[in-house]
Amino acid sequence: MCAIVGVINSPSAAKTAYYALFAMQHRGQEASGISVCDNAEITTFKGNGLVTDVFSAKIINELKGDMAIGHNRYATAGKSSSGDAQPIAANYSLGQISVVHNGNLVNKDEVRNDLIRDGAIFQTNMDTENIVHLIAKNHSPHLKERIISALEKIKGAYCLLFQSRHKVFAVRDRYGVRPLSLGRLKDGGYIIASETCAFDLVEAEFIRDVKPGEMIIFEHGKSEFESIELFKPESRICAFEYIYFARPDSVIEGKSVYEARKKMGETLAKKSKVKADFVIPVPDSGVPAALGYANASSIPFELAIVRNHYVGRTFIEPTQEIRNLKVKLKLNPMSSVLKDKSVVVIDDSIVRGTTSKKIVELLRHAGVREIHFRVACPELKFPERYGIDTPSFEELISANKSVEQVREYIGADSLEFLDIDELKSSLGNERKYSLVSFDGDYFIK
Ligand code: 5GP
Ligand code: MG
Repeated sequence: MCAIVGVINSPSAAKTAYYALFAMQHRGQEASGISVCDNAEITTFKGNGLVTDVFSAKIINELKGDMAIGHNRYATAGKSSSGDAQPIAANYSLGQISVVHNGNLVNKDEVRNDLIRDGAIFQTNMDTENIVHLIAKNHSPHLKERIISALEKIKGAYCLLFQSRHKVFAVRDRYGVRPLSLGRLKDGGYIIASETCAFDLVEAEFIRDVKPGEMIIFEHGKSEFESIELFKPESRICAFEYIYFARPDSVIEGKSVYEARKKMGETLAKKSKVKADFVIPVPDSGVPAALGYANASSIPFELAIVRNHYVGRTFIEPTQEIRNLKVKLKLNPMSSVLKDKSVVVIDDSIVRGTTSKKIVELLRHAGVREIHFRVACPELKFPERYGIDTPSFEELISANKSVEQVREYIGADSLEFLDIDELKSSLGNERKYSLVSFDGDYFIK
């Protein structure tokens, strides 16, 4: 996870980047940062916390320039200390460089150890720093060639933005595992962002997605950009972007995330019929799927669990105790609606089982008679390694328990998941997806 943004040839680029990062806060809440360049010098500001915690109006106004890149961090590699915030900015033989990354490199340890053996001194725990070292060590007089050479040495899922004093380079790995889109600002400048919901906020017009394997090069003061096919594309967008990560108002590779989620709910409703008084979502992530389920089953939809919006996503907290507490802080079922009722509860996913177990407990406490838990994705059986912080095998409940054992653990009366084919047909069978968490097909090794 993580969000990245680039703003090119637009006055107050840092401010636009700030709004875009704010729109993509859901992709990472640990740290945020922006590098800005006025065609002479790159200035970087970053820190721990939410976008609005890190930046004040004063700071944004001081970040002057018409080229900016930015990042929201959700740790997958490295720790959650402020030293691991991005952009990573450095000085090297060609001047200044700044880099942001969404994804995860699978050969990071090998590359890092090789670099250290060669005398590199690392400043962070992030896999992204490998790329900066590889660029610095190369002897080509052109940054473009150095980037390409570095990309040939790394393996993994990546959407990357590189900023030099005069250019911004955008790259998406050949599988296009993570989303990245290109838009045009009203002032004629360009914007690159992980999700299109960022374009809506800054009133940018969507142009197209960055293609898998593509490098786009923007230059200061130039209205045309250069596009190069670096790697032969073999498109495999991550299905989990549609299931959980992306905002419902984003469109990824031509498909609305909201519509995809509704479709997953419809598919769930069609796979087996249950009798119930209501369909209720686990807010907010379960809402579109629950709507789809309610429409397809003709069981009325009720928002019977109310969410407190001032609590962050449960998953991000490090310890198990806090995770348990946070579910209660975040979700409150209304007994007036639920007492003695039979309900279908819809969530987008079960990871560790913490949320669903708590929800069932809270619903029983609210007097619900029967709980039919339905999950709008398949069982998560394998740790994702391409940029999502899914836990190890030991922690993934479906890696260790059958559906019946999970049902027993969470305490529901019945439990069903989508299967992989149902997920694929809900998303559209015309494309290939990254389904690692479900099928263990680690196609980038
Ligand atoms: P569990 O409690 O089973 O560990 O997690 C399931 C809940 O976490 C679901 O409500 C789902 O919406 C949410 N979830 C699924 N994957 C992720 C993730 O990678 N990060 C965060 N923050 N939440 C997640
Ligand atoms: Mg959720």
